[in-house]
Amino acid sequence: MQPLFDLHTHTIASGHAYSTLKENIEEAARIGLKALGTSEHAERMPGTAHRMYFMNFKVIPRELNGVIIYNGIEANIYGEKGEIDVHPSIIDRLDYIIASMHLPCIENLGEAGNTKAILGAIENPKVTIIGHPDDSRLPIKMDEIAAAAAECHTALEVNNSSMHPLNFRENAKENILEMLDYAKKYKTNIILGTDSHICYEVGKFDRALEVLEESAFPEELVVNFEMDRLPLVLNKTE
Ligand SMILES: [Zn+2]
Ligand SMILES: [Zn+2]
Repeated sequence: MQPLFDLHTHTIASGHAYSTLKENIEEAARIGLKALGTSEHAERMPGTAHRMYFMNFKVIPRELNGVIIYNGIEANIYGEKGEIDVHPSIIDRLDYIIASMHLPCIENLGEAGNTKAILGAIENPKVTIIGHPDDSRLPIKMDEIAAAAAECHTALEVNNSSMHPLNFRENAKENILEMLDYAKKYKTNIILGTDSHICYEVGKFDRALEVLEESAFPEELVVNFEMDRLPLVLNKTE
């Protein structure tokens, strides 16, 4: 099956990505995605957009070139209880929140500490996706993460960029295979994200699809394979 949407994409507004929203949308339309989510890094990431960027989403049409546009954010988990850097003034303007650990924004808290931080984010009702929980530099107890995500209806991401040979995240593929095994056990929803930082990566899920196949992962747990599963990862209060 082919993924119908990509909710993890960045533009020049993130400060270390290279395409505009228009270029990302045009690429999404060209390759036949039904929906595109834009998810700039939240404010603790050096060089990213100011919170006013997220306050002005109203100017973006909901549909362009036949692609439905969703306006999200990739929040930084920055505290041991899973605190995220999404200011209350923007929280209701977002269609969805991906919460991720990034080393510029949090230090390695050790396996128990990292796990606790991610569990806090999973339990946050505003967070619908945990981004790239796949990096051995930030070890976690995958069993607990997958069980809690299933319980809280939070999706775990298979991040296509993490498995790029030049990516700095460590042992991503092995960690993702482990995550998929526990996701099968607990029936945790999985979402594929490209984490594109240039338009040419939008909607390219080659490595993510390969790892799903290697894991013989059940299609019904993959959010991207059906449009009617998309609301599972949109703002739960919408
Ligand atoms: Zn980034
Ligand atoms: Zn990230």
